[in-house]
Amino acid sequence: TRRKIVAGNWKMNGSKESVVELVKSIQSNDAVDVVVAPSFVYLATVADLALASNLKVAAQNVSDQKQGAFTGEVSIPMLEDFSVSHVIVGHSERRSLYAETDAIVADKVDAVLAAGLTPILCVGETLEQRENGTTLAICNGQIDAVMNVVGAERFESVVVAYEPVWAIGTGKSATSEQAQEVHKGIRTHIAKTSSKAAEKVAILYGGSVKASNSAELFAQPDIDGALVGGASLDAAEFNSIIESAK
Ligand code: 13P
Repeated sequence: TRRKIVAGNWKMNGSKESVVELVKSIQSNDAVDVVVAPSFVYLATVADLALASNLKVAAQNVSDQKQGAFTGEVSIPMLEDFSVSHVIVGHSERRSLYAETDAIVADKVDAVLAAGLTPILCVGETLEQRENGTTLAICNGQIDAVMNVVGAERFESVVVAYEPVWAIGTGKSATSEQAQEVHKGIRTHIAKTSSKAAEKVAILYGGSVKASNSAELFAQPDIDGALVGGASLDAAEFNSIIESAK
C-alpha cells in the first residue's frame, strides 16, 4: 500500500515572519508524509526549522540546468544545500503563466530524479478540455511526455499531482468521484507501460482541497494524498487535512 502524502504549496505567499510561525504550527507525524513548499527565499529558513521534525520541504520549481548564465533561476545543487527532498514540477501556473512546455517539464523531472530528489509532477485539464471530454487524454499526454524521457523504471519514484485547472484557487474542488475517475485513469494508463510503476506511483489530488473535503477524497482507492494551495497557509486547516489522511 502507498503512503499518504499531504503537501502544502504556499505559492508566492508569506513573509519572513509568517512562514516561521506557520512551519512551527504544522503537526507532522509518522503516519503521513507531510511536505511544505515555500518560496525560494524562505527555503533555508523553513528547511532549518523542518530538521527538528519529520516535516519535508519542497521547492516550487527548479531549473533543469546545473549552473551558469541563467538569470533568476535556481539549480538543483543549490536546493541540495538545504535538505530539500521534493520539487514541484510543471504546476499549471508555471505551464500557463511561464510557458513551461511538456518538454521543459520532462527535462526538469529528469534532472530532479537524477539528483535523487522526488519530483511532484503536476498534470490536469482546463475546464474547456473537461467539457470537450479530453480530460484523460490531456493528463495522460502530460504523463507520457515525462515517462518517454525518464523511462518507466525511474518514473516509479515520481509523485503525480492531478490538479484540474478549473479547481485551482476557485473553491470548486472536483468531487471525490470525479477525482477518483481521473486518478484511476492515470494509473491504468501508467500500467500499460509498467504495472510496477502504476502500483508504486502516488497520485495526489490538488484543487480547492480543504479540511471539509479531504477525508472523502482520501477515502478513494487511487487518491494517495493532496497538494494543497490556499488551505495550506492556515495551520489549523492544514493540520486538519493532515489528520484526515492518517
Ligand atoms: P488551491 O488549493 O488554492 O486550489 O491550489 C491548489 C494548487 O494549485 C496546489 O498546487
